[in-house]
Amino acid sequence: MHPPCPVCDGTEWETIGTRVHHRSVLQSTEGPFQLRMRVLFEVWHPERESIAFESLLCRRCGFVIYAPRPTADDLDRKYRFLTSSARDGREKPQSVEREAERAARLEAKLAAFVRGSGKRILDYGGGDGRLIAPFSQQGGKCFVVDYVTATVEGVTRLGDTLDDLDSEDRFDLIVCSHVIEHVAEPLRVLTRLRDHLLDGSVIYIEVPMEIWKKPPLHKEPVTHVNFFTVDSLRTLIQRSGLHPVTVRLEDSPHPDGHHAVVVAAIARRLPGSPPQVKYSGAAGTRQLLHPSFGARLHRALLRPTALPAAAWHKMTRRVFK
Ligand SMILES: [Zn+2]
Repeated sequence: MHPPCPVCDGTEWETIGTRVHHRSVLQSTEGPFQLRMRVLFEVWHPERESIAFESLLCRRCGFVIYAPRPTADDLDRKYRFLTSSARDGREKPQSVEREAERAARLEAKLAAFVRGSGKRILDYGGGDGRLIAPFSQQGGKCFVVDYVTATVEGVTRLGDTLDDLDSEDRFDLIVCSHVIEHVAEPLRVLTRLRDHLLDGSVIYIEVPMEIWKKPPLHKEPVTHVNFFTVDSLRTLIQRSGLHPVTVRLEDSPHPDGHHAVVVAAIARRLPGSPPQVKYSGAAGTRQLLHPSFGARLHRALLRPTALPAAAWHKMTRRVFK
């Protein structure tokens, strides 16, 4: 039995791929990867020797998940396990320059929405708050909600989860960057974040775009559980009662050094009637699985420095085919 779609509540799934994971991988690996596979075989499925995952495409909205899908409780147990094993679970050290570049880009992108001093900015799931630190230098009041306990200068921690916020707490800008690809109930998270926005103020949402040429069945199925496209993120935003301002693909410098394509969205809370919800179907996601030359070019254009290599690849394929 597959769950209803976490974005649109649809129940028509199409299997677009499968991948089997074996317990024996625990013997031959180490470090952060092994720790995540221990979540799979020791925390979630201790009785299993192997698990076959199906990648599922929602026919109503184009969202992709995998099954068996972890529940909210499974994901909670995952975080507790990873936190208690934090020494082994440390990610690769992140580049300070890259992090500063990301923070500067975000500030440039969103400054127009928080002009003037004293604006309240919340980074939900923002670690130590470094991504929004530049806003505090511009006179903003910056806050973070995260399990990470130490914050950078100028950023105040309000608690572990949204439950720690006062229900009356409102913000002029909320940042939710690389968070909702990890959660069991992304609609619930966005709806709760909307409730903490002032009328007229905006939320910035960024997620990795991991559907490209093949189904997103990663080396380990523990870190990301939701796979968005532009269309399915827009649908989620609308269903949460927020009005999309922009939802688009962007090139993003990842903290570990490589560049990644992301879906970046700005959405506004507005008084009055909720937005009309658009369900785009699965055709757009199928195009990402089997991209046309035009789609490949569009993707290459997201990062101009990648274009000569893409053009050369295409040209040499033509010539030598
Ligand atoms: Zn759906």
